[in-house]
Amino acid sequence: MRGKVNQWKDEKGFGFIVPDDGTEKVFFHISTVKSKARRPQVDDVVIYDATRDSQNRLKALAVSIEGVATISKPQNKSRYNRIEPPKKNIFDYVLIVILLVSLAAAGVVFLKSQRIEDAIPSGIPALVAIVLLGRQKKPKDKKFSCSRCNKITEHDARTIKAWNNGFLKLYCRSCHHQWLIDNPTQVDRSNLSRSGGCLGIFLIIAITPVFVGVGLYQWLS
Ligand SMILES: [Zn+2]
Repeated sequence: MRGKVNQWKDEKGFGFIVPDDGTEKVFFHISTVKSKARRPQVDDVVIYDATRDSQNRLKALAVSIEGVATISKPQNKSRYNRIEPPKKNIFDYVLIVILLVSLAAAGVVFLKSQRIEDAIPSGIPALVAIVLLGRQKKPKDKKFSCSRCNKITEHDARTIKAWNNGFLKLYCRSCHHQWLIDNPTQVDRSNLSRSGGCLGIFLIIAITPVFVGVGLYQWLS
C-alpha cells in the first residue's frame, strides 16, 4: 500500500500514515521502517504492508520511504553495529605490575619496622595504580548504532560509562528514555557498576603477594 506520513513522534519512534485510498490511518513504529538512511518525517511518501494487531488496530509493516535507500551503506552498518569491548593495553599491565610490587614492598617495610607510617610511601604507587586502572576508557568510534532503533548516535557520558561497565548493546538517548519508561520498576542498568565486583577479585589477587611476602619474611627471620 502507499500513503503519506501525517504524524511522526521522533522521540518516541512512532507515527501514523494516511493511506492514499483515504481509508483509516495506520500506526507504524520505527522498528518496521526498512529505510535506514534517515528517520521518517511528516509528509514522507511511504510504501508499506498493512496488518491488524491482536486488538484489531491497523498497523504498517515493512515501511519504506520513497526516495530513501532501504538499506544503509554496508560499511556504515558493520562499522557502528559492532561495538568492541574495552581492551587492556600495555599501560594497564604496567600498572598491575606497579600495584603488585608496591603492595609487596609496603608489606615488607611494615613487617621490618612494625610502623604503618613507614610503609605508606611504598604503598602510594599502588593507590595511584588503582586509580589509573579504574579510569574510564574511550570507545574507538565516536559514534555507535543504537541497538534498538539503529540510529547512528554520538557517545555521551552515559553510553561511555555503560560501555566501560561491559555493556555492548547501547541505546540512543530517546530509546534509553523510552526503555526507562517501559521498565519503571527496573533499576537503570547503566548506573549499575560492574567494576565493584571486578575490583574485589582484583584486590584479592593484588594482596596475595603481600601475604606470601609476609610468610617468607617470617620464615626467613
Ligand atoms: Zn535508539
